[in-house]
Amino acid sequence: MDSTLLCNDLKCRSLCPDQAVVTTCSHIFCIPCAGRLGLTEPRDGQRICPACSTHLVNPDDAVITSLNPTEDYKTSILSGLSPTIIMECAGRGLAFWAYQMVQEMWESRKVWDDEISADAMAVPFKTIWLAALPKGTHFLIRSALSRIVR
Ligand SMILES: [Zn+2]
Ligand SMILES: [Zn+2]
Repeated sequence: MDSTLLCNDLKCRSLCPDQAVVTTCSHIFCIPCAGRLGLTEPRDGQRICPACSTHLVNPDDAVITSLNPTEDYKTSILSGLSPTIIMECAGRGLAFWAYQMVQEMWESRKVWDDEISADAMAVPFKTIWLAALPKGTHFLIRSALSRIVR
């Protein structure tokens, strides 16, 4: 399936094509925005997520990723890792996807109530999936969604 994620910069929201920058706070940006917003080249030695203001201190907190990976890449990326780590990676990837889908749903339907504000949407997602690990992907997705959607 091709990527259908939109750049999380609200002024851009273009479809992320083959490559994008993803963050550990579960945000995604197209390459031009990532460059413009200082994610690929840190400004003053620090990177801050434009969507939720999380300080991205570790090198892997914001990385360029291929959204249409080659067969070779799919074969090698998780090879050598233990089943536990493979499931952790898959679970975090699914949680990222679920978060983006929920965010997109809100954006397109404009469903807002008193308790779900723009600020609530910007809460870093990292804390949610870290707390949910490592009990398997279904649990992860369910807990991730129930935390956001009531
Ligand atoms: Zn963009
Ligand atoms: Zn973020």
